[in-house]
Amino acid sequence: MNVIVGKDAIPEDRDYSLGIHPWSVEEGELLLQDMERALKKEDKHLVFIGECGIDRIKGGAMRSQEELFESQVFLSEKYHKPLMIHCVKAYNEVIHIKKKLNPTQPWVVHGFNRKGTIAKTLLENGFYLSFGYNFLKTQNGVEVLKNTPISKVFFETDDNLSVTIEEVYNLASEILQINIKTLIKKIEKNVCQVTGWKEPNY
Ligand SMILES: [Zn+2]
Repeated sequence: MNVIVGKDAIPEDRDYSLGIHPWSVEEGELLLQDMERALKKEDKHLVFIGECGIDRIKGGAMRSQEELFESQVFLSEKYHKPLMIHCVKAYNEVIHIKKKLNPTQPWVVHGFNRKGTIAKTLLENGFYLSFGYNFLKTQNGVEVLKNTPISKVFFETDDNLSVTIEEVYNLASEILQINIKTLIKKIEKNVCQVTGWKEPNY
């Protein structure tokens, strides 16, 4: 679950990500203080920093968005939490910031639904990509998934809340012609890789 700082309560006994969405850039400075206070508690259920990022369509002034995003990158590094990125029409900016700050934590782009050339550039810059059901239903989505190394892939239900994560896995296993159990193991491995969790013994 995704907790938006200043808006949502922190859940008990459930994994979550914590971040300031680019849509909340106006209140960003204040929320950053709340966010660091929450991070200091070292809650083991706090898995990701995010969603954070840059949204050219709905996010307000680009400069402020970039600053807010960079502040969260610093928190991600300081508290050793991977980053979950919300990015709309600002991939160049996000890639530029990654190159500039050279983070050690993994960066996952959530809801990726763009062209293969953008996916390729992101992959070349070490990003992980998370795909939703609706995207995988498009011809472009099929191509992008096929061209992404499986070790860089995540799946999500965010782009279609009426499907279950199992349905997304099913669809992906058809596209990739991989047995569903094998696919789930591979993605679980990625989760462990990114979060630092211990890999299960099968
Ligand atoms: Zn998002």
